[in-house]
Amino acid sequence: YFISFEGIDGAGKSTHIESFAKLMKDRNPDRDVVMTREPGGTQLGEQLRALLLDAPMNLETEALLMFAARREHIAQVIEPALMAGKIVISDRFTDASFAYQGGGRGLSLEKLNALEKWVQGREDGSILQPQLTFLFDLPGSVAQARRSKVRAPDKFEKMDLDFFEKVRQEYLRRAKADPRRFHLVDATQTPDVIWNELQALEIKL
Ligand code: C5P
Repeated sequence: YFISFEGIDGAGKSTHIESFAKLMKDRNPDRDVVMTREPGGTQLGEQLRALLLDAPMNLETEALLMFAARREHIAQVIEPALMAGKIVISDRFTDASFAYQGGGRGLSLEKLNALEKWVQGREDGSILQPQLTFLFDLPGSVAQARRSKVRAPDKFEKMDLDFFEKVRQEYLRRAKADPRRFHLVDATQTPDVIWNELQALEIKL
């Protein structure tokens, strides 16, 4: 079973992922839970992440490196874990590419769809996707105010409000198009309220 967490920077998803993974383990003692993240998740992926978050680069280069890291992540971590019946929880997956490189930076949907098909496509023609995606949604301005309190910004976090609003809108568009997969979380709420909401959710594996 494959679960992803998404949202703009400062939405608070990372705060909840670890507790959520623990919750899943407690509820499913017979299943292993694998926690991972993108970009990253493998040794090569983490090296690519360091480059991606630091070096300015052409938009196509950025998208290709994101998907290269993802390919490695799928082959080395995600597919083997799913095949073994494990629960995989990823901090970001392909929705982030559509939101950031697509919505935020303007890479065409056509190119993103082609990359998705290439990198996540299976022999039977299906495309690997999470079964459940939590989207932590909040206005870009609120997220920006939160971020400035926490840590030094990476390359993407230095982007302006307009960028994050575009990223947010693309996330929301995708959530609307696929309501069965997406669970929208109002991330303006306090962590306690969000946690209660996550706990109350019945997840059929
Ligand atoms: O989720 P996390 O904050 O660790 O992501 C690292 C950075 O990479 C974030 O600033 C995020 O905005 C950016 N990112 C991106 N495109 C992706 C995935 C992440 O720009 N496809």
